[in-house]
Amino acid sequence: MLRSGTLWQILRDAGKKVVKINVPMTDVEDAKETMIPGFLSPREGVPYPDEVRSKIKRKFGTGSIQGDIEMEILERVEADPDTFFQRIGEIMDEMAEVSLYLLQEEEWDFFMPVFMGLDRIQHFFWKHIDPTHPKYECGKFGKFVKDHYIKIDKITSDFMKSIDGETAFIIVSDHGFCPIYAEVSLNNYLEESGFLLRKNGEVDLEGSRAISYGYGDIWLNVRGREPNGVVMPGEEYETTRNAIADCLKAITIDGTKPIKDVRRREEIWWGPYLNEAPDLTVFFNVGYQAARRPLIASRSGKSRYLNENPRWSGGHDGTHDPADVHGIFGIVGPGIPKGKEVSVHLWDVAPTILELMGISIPSDMDGKPIELAEA
Ligand SMILES: [Zn+2]
Repeated sequence: MLRSGTLWQILRDAGKKVVKINVPMTDVEDAKETMIPGFLSPREGVPYPDEVRSKIKRKFGTGSIQGDIEMEILERVEADPDTFFQRIGEIMDEMAEVSLYLLQEEEWDFFMPVFMGLDRIQHFFWKHIDPTHPKYECGKFGKFVKDHYIKIDKITSDFMKSIDGETAFIIVSDHGFCPIYAEVSLNNYLEESGFLLRKNGEVDLEGSRAISYGYGDIWLNVRGREPNGVVMPGEEYETTRNAIADCLKAITIDGTKPIKDVRRREEIWWGPYLNEAPDLTVFFNVGYQAARRPLIASRSGKSRYLNENPRWSGGHDGTHDPADVHGIFGIVGPGIPKGKEVSVHLWDVAPTILELMGISIPSDMDGKPIELAEA
């Protein structure tokens, strides 16, 4: 749940017109602004308001657009990779055509389309473009990945040609990618070290001191906080956290350490909602991530801890270290120097946009505007 204004709410409050297309987790709000809700919205792909939907229907013959690849096709990537690539390409083209149309048709001060395709492609096809991946496969799919980069470059150029010289243009990704070789089952390690107990094959939530629910998070079972808490707050909480961190950092499999660091929540996060973060977060080395199904695997031997055949060969949420999965950011526009290199945190993008548009930055925004002018 968001407890702070979004960029578009802030822009709207300042009297600016916003158009957003396929932005994840955006839904229709009270405002009548033009939008097509994105990934994880119940109205994904349905243009809003109705006049815009009708306009798109008249122009393109369809009342809704596909924001993300269809689930049925995603489920069959391995069986039918050709259909997957074909659909990803079609969806990118449709998103570009509809966006460029709305760019011309609608009134806007801020216009934001999101393209999801490259994320889906890289999760499944990283091993086709990375010769250092243990499961590297040389062949046509590596070329398909490259073709889709060329396609998005062309789309980017079409957008740049469609805006006037007074408008700033930003290209930004929410993350980069790195290889995945294997998934680590943290709960099996917690069990082996005595932090997690099992009863009748299930995790015993009354006796366990810690559990992971996925993505490398670890939650302690704290008395007074959890319904059946067993770890006393204070000293016992701290010693338990330290013991779990030490134990996980020591894991070695075939001479390799899958875990780079285990950090306490206050080492990562800050602010009034710190106490809602996991007690510990596991930072994996590049190539590893937490098991997607975190409950204890009933396999034996090495595969008890390690899934060496994960579905994805590329990912971005395992290491938890932005330095391992750099995203991209680029900006051109009036008064912005060309060729300057900047180092940008994702949270600096919104304040940069606000500053460019002459809107004051709310005090609860973490980032700060990027220094674009020449020093
Ligand atoms: Zn992804």
